[in-house]
Amino acid sequence: MSDGWKKRTELVHGGTRRSQYNEVSEAIFLTQGFVYDTAEQAEARFQKAGEDEFIYARYGNPTMAMFEDRISGYLGYEDAFACASGMAAVNGALTALLKSGDHVVAARALFGSCLYILEDILGRFGVEVTLVDGTDNEAWAAAIRPDTRLVFLESISNPTLEVIDLKHVCDLAHANGALVLVDDAMATPVFSYARACGADISIVSTTKHVDGQGRMLGGVICGSKELIRGPIETYIKHTGGAMNPFTAWTHLKALETLELRVRAQAAAAEQIAEALSGHAKLNAVRYPTHAAHPQHELARRQAPAGGTVVTFEVKGGKAACFRFLNALEIVTISNNFADAKSIATHPATTTHQRLPQEQKDTLGISDGLVRFSVGLEDPEDLIADLKQALDKA
Ligand SMILES: *Cc1c(COP(=O)(O)O)cnc(C)c1O
Repeated sequence: MSDGWKKRTELVHGGTRRSQYNEVSEAIFLTQGFVYDTAEQAEARFQKAGEDEFIYARYGNPTMAMFEDRISGYLGYEDAFACASGMAAVNGALTALLKSGDHVVAARALFGSCLYILEDILGRFGVEVTLVDGTDNEAWAAAIRPDTRLVFLESISNPTLEVIDLKHVCDLAHANGALVLVDDAMATPVFSYARACGADISIVSTTKHVDGQGRMLGGVICGSKELIRGPIETYIKHTGGAMNPFTAWTHLKALETLELRVRAQAAAAEQIAEALSGHAKLNAVRYPTHAAHPQHELARRQAPAGGTVVTFEVKGGKAACFRFLNALEIVTISNNFADAKSIATHPATTTHQRLPQEQKDTLGISDGLVRFSVGLEDPEDLIADLKQALDKA
């Protein structure tokens, strides 16, 4: 973060670079390459590119650099590498840091594509992975060993909103010399506590709250200069996972309004959780920092708000749940989250359809479960819409 700036100022001004025209709004540099004044300058840059010296957009670009500086400063990290999607970031970070023979401990409740990388891809290259119940502090202690190279988890799990005691896991990992990588999509950049708890790397799918309006795919890996400009940049620049300049530019503009949007959505999420709690048609309503969540004390100790997603279980299984979803008038049925438009997802038949029933049961993904992503509409309209649709369940 730039010296002495508060976080909201960082979101508006952090990382800004101006061209010779001194533009106010950040410029978008839609260029693949860069011109050298002389052959000697080209030779020197290929030997070692200094800060703000660019070679090729797959390696870096001024618009991407502005975005990387702004978001890493905001999240409290030294540096960042911007990627084409959240999964390009997860894959890039894991593959860059692991080798055959390494041991990884991860929370079981992971985003499906992350689980695929850990279990299928890394396994193929000789990485041993142990999955644990992330909410069980003892299970982490039993699984992390002196040869554990890396620990991977979602700070708040998707879709079940399980909360992990992150400080506990970071302390255990660091005592064993392991790195902690946090997939921080659900917590949101605004309420992220990964850095404060000691995580080495935060990976953010910027497709979610950073874009916030359902347009761009993006991801970012934040960490120390040593890790980011060392193994991570080296791996990603040669394998093609970099963000494109247009996405970086839309993200820069979106960061300016990030706090205003996410704080409003989180406040609405808490209000909706409260309004739905105890509803006769629902079995359980969950929002991490709401009193009805079994881990709300831990969630509140870690952050003032628990993101922008509320989950609930409609009584009567899939048929009743589908009647509810089909009766929604403002809320859209889709599978993404963190959009300005509120979205209801039925994980059991969409995002988590392929999981074996046994695994769905272990994770708590029931036929009545709805993941509700709270948008920027008036929360009173949303509550009225949810209630009229529940009447039809
Ligand atoms: C969405 C998401 C991802 C993947 O991000 P993309 O930008 O869609 O590639 C990874 N992890 C979590 C927790 C997510 O919610």
